[in-house]
Amino acid sequence: MSTPIQWLVVTDLDASLLNESYCWDAALPALQRLQDLGIPLILNSSKTFSEMSELATALGTMTPVVSENGGLVSVHKDSELMDPMHVLVRSGNYLTEVNGLSRDFIIGVAHALREEEGYQFQGFSDWSLEQVSDRTGLSHSMAQRSLSRHATEPIVWEDSSERYNAFTGSLAKAGIRVLRGGRFLHLMGEVDKADGLVCARALYEKKQPKVDWKTIAVGDSANDLAMLEAADIALVIPHADGPRIQPKAPRVVHASRPSTKGWNDAILTLLTELS
Ligand SMILES: [Mg+2]
Repeated sequence: MSTPIQWLVVTDLDASLLNESYCWDAALPALQRLQDLGIPLILNSSKTFSEMSELATALGTMTPVVSENGGLVSVHKDSELMDPMHVLVRSGNYLTEVNGLSRDFIIGVAHALREEEGYQFQGFSDWSLEQVSDRTGLSHSMAQRSLSRHATEPIVWEDSSERYNAFTGSLAKAGIRVLRGGRFLHLMGEVDKADGLVCARALYEKKQPKVDWKTIAVGDSANDLAMLEAADIALVIPHADGPRIQPKAPRVVHASRPSTKGWNDAILTLLTELS
């Protein structure tokens, strides 16, 4: 008897499942189809756990949540995937594992470099709640959740590209890397969304080892590339001017239109084919 195949969908949020108004209504048909087929949907974003757990609740999912670009993996306390052997930190209804470096360490290194070299950049730790709200377009309460970070610091670079290379070189010596997201550069440890995908898949593999767990990863920007390349099927969501990434995966699929609508169309097409 051959090993049964079960699919997991691991998705980015901004400009993928969510549109510019942070809305996913246009993806409801595909979300319903995933639920009908029993295919878990894993949210994997640069957003904070606080932002993402609220989204997961609104979406009605109890699946693992990967936040801060793979820096945190959270499992719902009532999930069948909960593994009491795992070392996890309690946060609300979830137990969270911290990968990579702490945000305090990252901010300490970046600010010391700014002090020494006079680099021009600003980040979330420099801004008031009001300023974060203005810069992100998030409401105050959403901006508050976006500020509750543990493993990443988003910044905006306002200096030359030569000095950017020097800055990132110094960060790398401290084990800090820079990922380009949709709106910000994210300073973080040596983990990325691909680690989040691998961690999430491993939870399912441990729970159901006799199943061949395969993944569809969905994303639109450079910080999704590693995650898409770690998947069996990479689904690229384009922008209005076309795709921004060209992943190398066993199979690459391009959605025909941007954001939530493209996400919906492409997932429905894939599910029809795979089920
Ligand atoms: Mg995105």
